[in-house]
Amino acid sequence: MPARLPPSPAFAALNRLAAQRILILDGAMGTQIQQLALDEDGYRGHGGGHACRHHSDHPQKGNNDLLILTQPEAVEEIHYRYARAGADIVETNTFSATTIAQADYGLEAAVHDLNLEGARIVRRALDRAAAEDGRPRFVAGALGPTNRTASISPDVNNPGYRAVSFEDLRRAYLQQAQGLIAGGADILLIETIFDTLNAKAAIFACLQAMEAHGMALPLMISGTITDASGRTLSGQTPTAFWHSVRHARPWSVGLNCALGAAAMRPHLAELSGVADTLICAYPNAGLPNAFGQYDEGPLDTAAQIADFAREGLVNVVGGCCGTTPDHVRAIAEAVAPFSPRKVPEYA
Ligand SMILES: [Zn+2]
Repeated sequence: MPARLPPSPAFAALNRLAAQRILILDGAMGTQIQQLALDEDGYRGHGGGHACRHHSDHPQKGNNDLLILTQPEAVEEIHYRYARAGADIVETNTFSATTIAQADYGLEAAVHDLNLEGARIVRRALDRAAAEDGRPRFVAGALGPTNRTASISPDVNNPGYRAVSFEDLRRAYLQQAQGLIAGGADILLIETIFDTLNAKAAIFACLQAMEAHGMALPLMISGTITDASGRTLSGQTPTAFWHSVRHARPWSVGLNCALGAAAMRPHLAELSGVADTLICAYPNAGLPNAFGQYDEGPLDTAAQIADFAREGLVNVVGGCCGTTPDHVRAIAEAVAPFSPRKVPEYA
């Protein structure tokens, strides 16, 4: 967090809870959205949904973030189910809500509304859940990696080429972070980081957004290990990754997605051994099968995450691709007996 800014009210509340127990993050949006079986009209909100005021000629099927505007009730219901399953922290459905990612759908103009409404919808879902069980919960504004990398050339014949610059990314992430904060995000969560330079642009933008807001929000940073050698796509080990993001003084650092919990464990242990901040882990429900579906059941995922907790590696846990509210419920129950990891004090 930026040292000069006063912490947000949620900051203190989250710190109190994190000292008491392992906190629970929600699970995948994609799996739940697939179950809605929406066609092009469904994505556009025609016939029963809400037509988007932003026009685009591009096909919208698969633009999951757009459902914030066109199917808000369905999106709120998914967030609500995760909250009731035991999530303390629920992520906005804004993984691709940047001008860079929305350019594929011709919806750059919708980005502010997507982030603003994306955060408001989660807040509504969490308030509904709190009215029933009295538990405090937190909105994590999710910032995804975008579909372009600033460190690696997508053109094998031109290794110096970059599809996006640091400044393009910073500007896009700043707009996203400001929309999320305006919508009431308690936390900013930079996730599925495969390119550290993209992440650095996102971090810089989040700190700028906090500066503009006049308050420090907890910042969660989550990388993804995409190959068995234990490196991010831009080639870093977990230790190197930590050293490139620690300047931001994140509330948590961790890993999500990719290879599933079993493959994540050694990398998580490495990160836990070097990072003097909270550790967050939310793996996929195993590896996808030949049809791109995830077969790992709630109890299987939960048992592996309980091992992380038993070994004292984690402070926040949840699920990524393929996980459901049942996975989150099982994870919450499985880690309940264990104490949160003690944050080490390194000089
Ligand atoms: Zn994932």
